[in-house]
Amino acid sequence: MLLSRSCGWLLAGLLSLPALAQTAPPVNAPLPPAKLEALKQELIGEIDKQQKATQQMVDMVFSFGELGFQETETSRYLTGILKKNGFVIQSGIAGVPTAWTATWGSGKPVIAIGSDIDCIPKASQKPGVAYHDPIIEGAPGHGEGHNSGVPLNITAVLALKKIMEREKLPGTLMLWPGAAEELLGTKAYYVRDGYFKNVDACIFTHVSDNLSVSWGDSGYTGAVSVKFLFEGQAAHAGVNPWRGRSALDAVELMDVGWNFHREHMDVNQRSHYVITDGGDQPNVVPSKAAVWYYLRERTDPKIREMYADALKMAEGATLMTKTTVTHEVLGSAWPIHLNKAIAQAMYQNIRRVGLPQWSAADQVLARAAQAETKAPKMDGLNRPIDGLATRLDTLKGPTTTTFGGSDDIGDISWTVPTVVLRYPANIPGLPGHHWANAIAMATPIAHKGVTAGAKAEALTLLDLLVKPELIKEAWAYFNDVQTKDTKYTPLISVTDKPAITLNQGIMAQYRPQMTKFYYNPAKYKTYLEQLGIAYPTVRPAPKAGTVE
Ligand SMILES: [Zn+2]
Repeated sequence: MLLSRSCGWLLAGLLSLPALAQTAPPVNAPLPPAKLEALKQELIGEIDKQQKATQQMVDMVFSFGELGFQETETSRYLTGILKKNGFVIQSGIAGVPTAWTATWGSGKPVIAIGSDIDCIPKASQKPGVAYHDPIIEGAPGHGEGHNSGVPLNITAVLALKKIMEREKLPGTLMLWPGAAEELLGTKAYYVRDGYFKNVDACIFTHVSDNLSVSWGDSGYTGAVSVKFLFEGQAAHAGVNPWRGRSALDAVELMDVGWNFHREHMDVNQRSHYVITDGGDQPNVVPSKAAVWYYLRERTDPKIREMYADALKMAEGATLMTKTTVTHEVLGSAWPIHLNKAIAQAMYQNIRRVGLPQWSAADQVLARAAQAETKAPKMDGLNRPIDGLATRLDTLKGPTTTTFGGSDDIGDISWTVPTVVLRYPANIPGLPGHHWANAIAMATPIAHKGVTAGAKAEALTLLDLLVKPELIKEAWAYFNDVQTKDTKYTPLISVTDKPAITLNQGIMAQYRPQMTKFYYNPAKYKTYLEQLGIAYPTVRPAPKAGTVE
């Protein structure tokens, strides 16, 4: 079985570790503005020089296409690069074999730099092709774009490291991966196990379609990911059905109950499920069945209320079917709150970097992918969706609008001052968690977007290193505003364990075929070249007079 049975959320509340009060005055003296300006120019130039290495990393991780908790090749490859560059690697952190920290430097401030690495089931897709054309039918693929974030972080820190060494700037850089982000699987465990306890600030990067940063309540939901395992009694479904007790009946009744309950839930909630075990064959009454829920809401008390409702619903299903149920917490995330001072500093750097120069080919691919997926004409903020972004996003503050997604960076954002740098490596208006979101992710769109993001990140890291007042302001916001009335209490208990066996079966099924398509940079300049893809590949226009 996957995990020990969860102790449940009540226990999680009682035994939770409080957020550690931290005050960490950095020791770096401020640099004269002209000197800082010269170093920033140098960083931008250095990151431009690294474009080849950046492209190779983005393409390589794309080709691995590994699902959450199974990112073995990805982590081996990325830590290999960091180790070669003098970083000290700690592998298997928080009991997650594919998680790690890579640390370099010494002294204060300590800055954590993270990004996700896992991909999406059934999202295999040839990059640069604007219609569904999987590399391997049914295989996982980077239909979110998590192949690009750690390569961005590595690009930024390697440029910064050169300057830190030469200028003898104190400070510690700690890179880390969001393993199993799609499962909300690890970051609460990193926090629980103390990996952020000496950290002064955290920069997290996430793929997007613009270069942006925000502060305050992000509008993300928090979530509990929980699996309900029902147990009944097998019997011959034709001969002795009355001797059986169907665990699948219980799953279905729980789901029906939940769907009736939906009408009476807050409009901000999101909840969804998949039946992971519905029995083996129809002539055997299913003695075991399981359903896996994501329960999402905007605040911690509301998440806990939903979770309690779901436990009751599961119990109700057992009463109707004379079955029993246990549950396992497979992941969790707190709603995200981002730091004002760091976001403001980062936005100045974003303005300086600006959006990449898109080529005509980039725009042709983007528009074809948007047409293929019937992208809406306007985005959620009423801005037109037409090809790639050409206008920089504004700096956004707290929002009351609900964005249905979750990310376990929320747990870190309530532990240390954190910002999320979003960078323009993907195409606007796509469905998300979909093969189409992989189209751009090993093409010049992703490569240029990652280079732009790396610049914005490196400049902000430099600000954090040389402007002690910035980290002071960040902690003032964290202590006096963000956590004034809301205290972080993790949704996992002290005994919950990361669900590290998730996705083992799917990867075992597909990895042998996928291995043949791993990127070979010694032989091919780009992954597009290796796959023999003309860039961009779009559907031929219908001939005049033909009816589609
Ligand atoms: Zn993501």
